[in-house]
Amino acid sequence: MTVPQRPVPRPGVLAIDAYVPGKSQAPGVAKVFKLSSNETPLGASPSAIEAYKTVAAHLQDYPDGASTDLRQAIGRTFGLDPDRIICGAGSDDLLNLIARAYLADGDEAIHTTHGFLVYPIATLGTGARPVVAPEKNFTADVDAILKAVTPRTKVVFLANPNNPTGTYVPFDEVKRLHRGLPPHVLLVLDAAYAEYVRRNDYEAGIELVATSENVVMCRTFSKIYGLAALRLGWLYGPAHIVDALNRIRGPFNVNAPAIAAGIAALADTAHVERSRDHNERWLGWLTEEIGKLGLVVTPSVGNFILIHFPDKPGKMAKDADALLTSRGCVLRAVRAYHLPNALRMSVGTEEANRLVVKTLAEFMGK
Ligand SMILES: *Cc1c(COP(=O)(O)O)cnc(C)c1O
Repeated sequence: MTVPQRPVPRPGVLAIDAYVPGKSQAPGVAKVFKLSSNETPLGASPSAIEAYKTVAAHLQDYPDGASTDLRQAIGRTFGLDPDRIICGAGSDDLLNLIARAYLADGDEAIHTTHGFLVYPIATLGTGARPVVAPEKNFTADVDAILKAVTPRTKVVFLANPNNPTGTYVPFDEVKRLHRGLPPHVLLVLDAAYAEYVRRNDYEAGIELVATSENVVMCRTFSKIYGLAALRLGWLYGPAHIVDALNRIRGPFNVNAPAIAAGIAALADTAHVERSRDHNERWLGWLTEEIGKLGLVVTPSVGNFILIHFPDKPGKMAKDADALLTSRGCVLRAVRAYHLPNALRMSVGTEEANRLVVKTLAEFMGK
């Protein structure tokens, strides 16, 4: 065996295409609307911002490594046992902890065709293999996921609702997926957009986690709570899984300003309600208005929409992206999600939403 002449990463690492965040700039445009990362147009709760500032006087102190007060606040808000909650530096942190704890060389983790890109990245980083289950109508397909299970499968990642498609899997179907999985396969329900969903047949995962030994639910403060900059997420799971993740997480993986802001954000239910109302109104409006222009919009239950463009020179997603950017509307190209001719738009302020529709109308010659 030849000895390498320099350090070599473990197998899988160099197969990763590094995550490319949504762009935030439109060069030469005075007013830019960033609609590329599903951030809330309403900002964080004023009381969360206050709580964040208060911690500035104590920056020399380590945070509470167990995020105890925050877990208790989450427990109160959602009616959950705080001992079965673990917090992370964004749900990214938790997804990576799951991969590190439950995947090893040669294992397989399933995600769906247009599933969130963090899943294959976290999987490859452990030396395991990401397996892609095909979707139907831009929606995760339970039968296809179950068909992709092999003796090597250890984890199934399901974003529900999914990003970037905005589609969701009804609770009955999630339960059917769970019933079809072997008991040693971990089902990860990533419910980053749960707060936005207004459908009677949707459930984020709380009930399934409470009644099984192989399901976890990940949530985030980055979306409706408007705290993406602070990196804060949480996971609800069976005690044995929370125990395993607690052993490998960074001892202070959540910072003190994030803990303080998170607790205050949970308490400001009026702000969450306003954000939900704003979203519901403009999600419907955007879907309808953009549809009227002759563009196909995938029906979304999140705070963003996926817009499909005609397969015609000059009318493709990249052409629309260029025009929108020149007007200050920064949307998300989703090529990396195997959607080369679509753009994802986060629901923005009224001003941003109207400007996008006006610009797309011009683009479509309407
Ligand atoms: C935005 C998003 C998250 C949240 O990520 P954070 O690390 O908590 O900011 C998780 N899952 C999906 C599918 C997302 O779109």
